Amino acid sequence: MITGFVSLTLQAQLSKSETRLFFLSNPHYISDGFDFPVGKPDAKGYYNAQGFGKNLHLGDDWNGKGGGNTDLGDPVYACANGFVIQAEDLGGGWGNVVRVIHVLSFEPLVVVESVYAHLDKMEIQPGMGVKRGNLIGTIGTAGGRYYAHLHFEIRTNPFMDIGGGYSSDTKGFTDPTEFIQQNRTN
Ligand SMILES: [Zn+2]
Repeated sequence: MITGFVSLTLQAQLSKSETRLFFLSNPHYISDGFDFPVGKPDAKGYYNAQGFGKNLHLGDDWNGKGGGNTDLGDPVYACANGFVIQAEDLGGGWGNVVRVIHVLSFEPLVVVESVYAHLDKMEIQPGMGVKRGNLIGTIGTAGGRYYAHLHFEIRTNPFMDIGGGYSSDTKGFTDPTEFIQQNRTN
């Protein structure tokens, strides 16, 4: 859950051209399917407390089935192969946020972004390639703001401003659970 609206300049965010160059030089980081970002690969032991669209939520909120802060420090995994464009404390309702770009295909070009928010620790850096299932961080509370959970988004329009986590305007966002179920590994 994210409360309050924050709008930050993403100075530490890598550019579209840097991202394009990375995938052209490292084609083995092109996606070969998607898994869930917790309890890999199927979110075993977790539940989605607030799905996409509920209360105008733009993502999923993954919580450990133990409730409360029992999931604090649990591993968060890259949902697919990709390129890390940002790993930064954005403050406000966001806390530590990791953003990863995924290329599904070059011809035609299909690109999505995954967003992992409120992390306790971040284990990757901008400019790194990640493979599906790699550790990218741990579940956190955004500095004590919430009970520990992972706010997770899939954006069909990558490189947008981070936004506010809730909106009636869902343009550029998609239901993460639906997307992952439609793009599982072969
Ligand atoms: Zn959320």
